[in-house]
Amino acid sequence: MVNSLKKITRDLIKRYDVSCPYYTSYPTLSEWSGNFTSRDFIAGLNTLCTEGRKVPILLYIHFPFCKKRCYFCICNSIITHDRAKIKHFLSYLFREIDLLNAFFEKHSYAPNIKRIHLGGGSPSFMDIEEFGLLIEKLKTMIDFNNLDEFVTEVDSNTITRGKLMYYQGKGVDRISFGIQDFEPEVQKAVNRVHTPELIEDLLSPEIRGGFKSVNFDLLYGLPLQSRESFKSTIEIVKNLSPDRITLLKYAHVPDRRKHQKLIKESDLPDNFEKTRIFAEAVYNLIDYGYEYIGIDHFAKPTDSLVAGVRDRTLWRNFNGFADGGMHYIIGLGPTSTHGFINYYAQNIYSLAEYYKCIDNREFPILRGYKLSMDDLIRRDVINEILCYHSLDFSEIGRKYRIDFNEYFRQEIETLKALIEDGMLEFSSDMITVTPLGRLFIRHICKVFDRYLQGGKAYEITGP
Ligand code: SF4
Repeated sequence: MVNSLKKITRDLIKRYDVSCPYYTSYPTLSEWSGNFTSRDFIAGLNTLCTEGRKVPILLYIHFPFCKKRCYFCICNSIITHDRAKIKHFLSYLFREIDLLNAFFEKHSYAPNIKRIHLGGGSPSFMDIEEFGLLIEKLKTMIDFNNLDEFVTEVDSNTITRGKLMYYQGKGVDRISFGIQDFEPEVQKAVNRVHTPELIEDLLSPEIRGGFKSVNFDLLYGLPLQSRESFKSTIEIVKNLSPDRITLLKYAHVPDRRKHQKLIKESDLPDNFEKTRIFAEAVYNLIDYGYEYIGIDHFAKPTDSLVAGVRDRTLWRNFNGFADGGMHYIIGLGPTSTHGFINYYAQNIYSLAEYYKCIDNREFPILRGYKLSMDDLIRRDVINEILCYHSLDFSEIGRKYRIDFNEYFRQEIETLKALIEDGMLEFSSDMITVTPLGRLFIRHICKVFDRYLQGGKAYEITGP
């Protein structure tokens, strides 16, 4: 990818200083409705049992507890040192599995679960016994011999080499580390401290050999971060050599996440600096040999994500990019999200309400959405741009039997400003994202977002 650093001027950043979604779903979470209840969710599950039998499923499990609070956190997580709370939660999670199992059994439906993603919170905060119990329970729903992938998120504060080896024995083949930044001052400012030596020790060759892929999550825009300091972090990351890197932007929303008030606003880099930190990291990683998959994902050429781009099986889901073609998603645990057929749904946030629903033998649904045909077309358009950085109008037109130019007349008009800014190239009935546009790709997708038209900014939602 051609280096476009020189084109990133203060003026350009000012013009694109509008919040955009990461499009881990379309429509985004902010459009999902609280009027969507567990009854609507059951209607969706009924359709899944009749029409969705062949599509593989990714099971997402949300474990909400953490040992200590990172000040940048925007996840739904609860800090505890009380193991009884964890055991209590697991007993309810197991009952949610029972609820789903009973539903599927009643409908003679055996879900074709091919992937598991265990996220949080900090799943590695579970001790070995708790983790083992979870696996045994999952076996009532999943044929582990049928699994293609099992990812677990790990936190350096709660993971050990012993646990990593135990995970391997239980079928976990990918891990994702929350690294964020290696600069000691930045780490202190966000209360997330770990040394490169600790990570290196955890990822000994013996342990690395047992996983197909290791991901590092990094965050830019953190307090006390600068281009220089983040460059040092990237150099350490390159030495530690993860197979994948996810480079996310810190979202400062202290009104929604009270603990973020512990971050000094005067320590935060400004917008220009943030964009430059991101762009310099992108080119640094590309120069080193990582492939830039899109938005915030990088992978080594040997990683299956790169194969996904090559064989056009890349797709975007609630966790970012994935290879292997589209899977339906079923969520378990508070805040987890579901996506199947033309339904989205999200589980309740509050643990007390989650427990109450399970006690009442109800699916713990907070909100959801049933996609219209227009949503499905726009979702496809946005996914094409995100995954393959181009859009063939006639292909979409043929697939959905629409006249693309007519259907998206207003959007094509809006794209002209992006073409003028060098983000896009237009040829006959195709747009291609330029190297500069790759850095601003969410702005290109936003043009096709029916809910954010007319320059409307995106707002992070959730309690
Ligand atoms: S480990 Fe993750 S979920 Fe837990 S507090 Fe830190 S950022 Fe939040």
